[in-house]
Amino acid sequence: MKHIVKVDGTHHIRLSDIEPGSVSELTPKAAAARTAELLTELAELQELLYAAQQTAVLIVLQGMDTSGKDGSIQHVMGVLNAQNCRVASFKVPTPREAAHDFLWRVHAESPARGEITIFNRSHYEDVLVVRVHKLIEESTWKSRFDSINDFEKMLAQNNTLILKFFLHISKDEQERRLLEREKDPTKAWKLSPADWKERELWADYQLAYEDAINHCGTAVAPWTIVPANHKWFRNLVLAEAVVEALRPHKQEWMQRLTSLGEAQKKQLRAMRGETST
Ligand code: ADP
Repeated sequence: MKHIVKVDGTHHIRLSDIEPGSVSELTPKAAAARTAELLTELAELQELLYAAQQTAVLIVLQGMDTSGKDGSIQHVMGVLNAQNCRVASFKVPTPREAAHDFLWRVHAESPARGEITIFNRSHYEDVLVVRVHKLIEESTWKSRFDSINDFEKMLAQNNTLILKFFLHISKDEQERRLLEREKDPTKAWKLSPADWKERELWADYQLAYEDAINHCGTAVAPWTIVPANHKWFRNLVLAEAVVEALRPHKQEWMQRLTSLGEAQKKQLRAMRGETST
């Protein structure tokens, strides 16, 4: 799709070159209809993924406060069957988590084969917030880029499809959303003075994100920059990206199901004393 930038190690990006307000040529209404179609396909693919038990899917959602991580989970991933889909949210590490290497808690939440796991924030916080707030040495966060790439490569070698999304909003849009929350009784609970404080560090965060995306966008675990000022467009981009990543595996999962089904039927025939044909 036009306007969508994928970072897979072949080139570097600058976030300031990518327009957070981009939209497709579709009207919001047409985009919503297309998103609904894609989500139906996604639910079907999820059924096959679950039954075939061959592939795991890891979806990483990152973005500035109010960029729409929760909304994406609700509107796009909400279609998924809870049977084999989970959300793992990463907050400030507990003392026990902080006493381990930074990937310890992340690995424990990674999806098993047949599952989809959505990371609401992720191991990338360990090269973002800790860098911006100078919580650790520069040499430590820098060395984590390699650790992350090795970790994600290992997951990919173990049949995990990794999709990482940066929900890209503008600073103005963030202000608008923060002020909107104050007016909406159903959203005001999400407000925190810390959001306004973090906002002052906007430029530092953008730089930290840019570095993380450029260092850790790889062929097996690419980053997609999602223009996210317009929620309807964000939903379309996410739905399309996830479906496009899963669709090529459909045949392989179907074949696996067929052979599993044949093996089960063979056992049934043997149990009934029928001769196999
Ligand atoms: P959210 O903003 O994701 O809806 P919270 O308001 O609870 O949820 O924020 C979670 C906070 O935890 C964020 O400020 C985030 O930067 C912080 N956090 C997550 N992982 C880490 C980490 N590894 N080190 C320090 N802070 C972290």
